[in-house]
This record gives sequence, structure tokens and C-alpha cells, in this order.
Amino acid sequence: MSDFNLSNLGFDQQHIWHPYTSAIDPLPCYEVSGASGVNIELATGEVLIDGMSSWWAAIHGYNHPVLNHAASKQIEKFSHVMFGGLTHQPAIDLCRKLVKMTPSGLDRVFLADSGSVSVEVAMKMALQYWACQGAAEKHKFVTVRNGYHGDTFAAMSVCDPVNGMHSLFSDVLAQQLFAPAPQTRFDQPWNEDDIAPLIDIIETNQHNIAALILEPVVQGAGGMRIYHPEYLRRARQVCDEFNILLICDEIATGFGRTGKLFACEHAGISPDIMCLGKALTGGYLTLAATLCTEDVALGVCQGEPGVFMHGPTYMGNPLACAVANASLDILMQGDWKQQVINIGSQLKAELAKCKTLDTVADVRVLGAIGVVECKKAVDVAQIQKSFVENGVWIRPFGKLVYIMPPFIIDPSQLGKLTAAIYQALK
Ligand SMILES: *Cc1c(COP(=O)(O)O)cnc(C)c1O
Repeated sequence: MSDFNLSNLGFDQQHIWHPYTSAIDPLPCYEVSGASGVNIELATGEVLIDGMSSWWAAIHGYNHPVLNHAASKQIEKFSHVMFGGLTHQPAIDLCRKLVKMTPSGLDRVFLADSGSVSVEVAMKMALQYWACQGAAEKHKFVTVRNGYHGDTFAAMSVCDPVNGMHSLFSDVLAQQLFAPAPQTRFDQPWNEDDIAPLIDIIETNQHNIAALILEPVVQGAGGMRIYHPEYLRRARQVCDEFNILLICDEIATGFGRTGKLFACEHAGISPDIMCLGKALTGGYLTLAATLCTEDVALGVCQGEPGVFMHGPTYMGNPLACAVANASLDILMQGDWKQQVINIGSQLKAELAKCKTLDTVADVRVLGAIGVVECKKAVDVAQIQKSFVENGVWIRPFGKLVYIMPPFIIDPSQLGKLTAAIYQALK
């Protein structure tokens, strides 16, 4: 087959994998020619208002002058050097900032190259920690249903086993322990029964559990569910009581998205290990981090082999660290707080009327996250087309039509997003 005469989109369809797509019957893709602020420009000339922040990442918008400057300044010095035996200012600055801004006690930073890898690293840390304490039988993980932690093997083993994308692999995945997903909504009165099944599992299996892993307060790709912070506070207590580690996966929730810098802050807790990614570089480059306490770090390095056994080739990539530093500096100026409050109140006001549609099962909002859950799975290709025709970029999955726009979006742009959702579901 001669591919040389194919158009861009034709070549793309025949030769390029996209996330979760078929090679036989691929969904249509839209070619992007530029992006700036909250706009994504298509090669066909249309300009779309972005509702996704490119999967939670582009919190300051695209083509940001400060981030651009940080990238070009660093690229003129050096883009990358190995992190084994070498270190550099961009990584040191970044880790200083992360230690300072994250919940107390998270004092050691492992720089990873994607969210999934940071989850692998967190799980390996927990396993190695117990093995080095002479408790190698503590090798299972407990989690809640409807979670999503990434696409690599350890991460897949703690994703929701049914609605997760990975049930096909269940025979080869490590068998973990699953409690029901938290049911009490963020603003409902707390119901202690909600956490009873988790406590039960932990009590029964405490001698075999390395850690509890969960997404604090907002479950992302496993269902866009928002739950009561008391669940998290109780989970912290139960982990302490039964001597298991707590891993909080803040890859989606971190850096202001839920209205707090980190979702753990809604519950006033610190985990033993925390995963960060997605918005870390403001959506510019792939970079993630796994932070842990001094106790975990020292525990991991006691006895044999005496070192933590992980080290990606591109660990601590200076270019990515430099952009992450600039992104965190923008966050530290503090404008995000009011921006997220404003986005949240507008989302609450404008998405409320979707509840009146008989195709809609639920509407929920926290921080700069708006979710409309439909009664049935939406036809992605068709709804995507209608969104593009309406000048917005929103990418639903399953029954969920949801937005988490860049923090810099203005009220009229956000109004176009919410109107397009109502229009499409009506
Ligand atoms: C996106 C995500 C991951 C995986 O991150 P990648 O960078 O896609 O590997 C893990 N956990 C959560 C909560 C996420 O939202």
C-alpha cells in the first residue's frame, strides 16, 4: 500500500495509535495547527475553546509566555543530562518547591517521567519498605473501586477491575484488594458506614497489606466521582492503626484543580507517599514526581539492597524541570485560588440546568471540575463533532461529559463550554 499520497489525517488513521483507539475502526481525529491561551486552533481554521486542559495538564493555558521563556532559557544551557551521579539547578529548585508546597512530612522526591511511572515507583517504594523491615509478606495493595492510576502493570492492578480499561489483563495482574468506592458525596453529611467495608478488608488482611492507594476526594478517569473528605481522614487513621502505608495519587487533583493546592488538604492529612504529574509542567512536557516521608525513604534503604531500585533514563529532565519551576512560580503568585472559585461557581450555576434533561443522571462540581453524568454512554464521535461545530473542545468518555478548563478561562469562554454541553445533551 502506498502511503505517500495519503493526506495527514489519512496517514494518521493508517499508521498512528492514539489513546484507547482501534486500528481497525479509528475514531476521527482533528489536526491541530496551534494553541494559545484557552484556544486550540485546528488546521481547518476553526478555533476551539479548550475544556480539557489537555487532560488536566495545561492549567495556565497554551503557549504561555512565562513557560515559553523558561523552556527556551533552559534549552540554551542544556536540555538533558543523566541523573545518575549528576544533578542540576532546575531539579534542585523544583524539588525544593515541591517539598515546601506539599503536605508536611513529604520530604524526599523521586522524579519520574510520567504519571503511571510515578505510581509504579510509589508501589515499589511501599513493597521495598516492608521487605526491608523484614515484612515481605506485606505485599498486597488495597484500594477503592472506580479508581484510575495509570496504564502500566502495577498501576493497572489497582485500577477499577470492572469498569477500568484493563479487565482483559486481569489474569496476569497482581491480585489486589478492592473496597467499594466511597459513596458519601462531598457536601453530604458524613456517614461512617461508608468506610466500614474498607476498614473490614484492612483489619482482615493487615498482615499482607503494604499500602492503601487512592485518589484523594476526586476519582478521575475511573468515574469522575467526588467524595467526602472525611473518608480520606478516616482512611489515614485506619492506615496508622493497622500499620500500612497511605499512597495518595494526586496526579489529576494536584496543583489547585479541586480548590486546594492538593486534594489531601480538604481532609487536612498527609500521606506517606504522594504521586504528582499531569499539571506539574503546566502541560508542556511529561514529568511526574513521587514524594515520600523520611521514614519511608530511610526504611526503603535499610538492609539489602540498600538503595531504591528505580532510575529512568530521562529522570529529572532539566528542560521539564525548568518549565515545571516556571509553572509552580505562576501558581505561587496565588491567582489560581480566585480563578478556581470563580470557575466553580459558574459551573455550578450553569451546569445545574443539565439536571432537568432526561438523558442526565447527575451533575457534580468541585473546584474547576464540572461533571455531567448521562444515563447511557454517549456516542463520542458524534458528540465530539457537535462540540467542534459549536467551537469547543470537550472529550467525553462512557457516560461522562466533563470539563476541567485552564484556570485562566474567562466567564464568556466558560459560558460557551457549559452551553455547548447543554446543547449537545438536549
Ligand atoms: C492520568 C493519571 C495517571 C497516569 O498518568 P500518565 O501520565 O497518563 O501515565 C495516574 N493516576 C491518575 C489519578 C491519573 O489521573
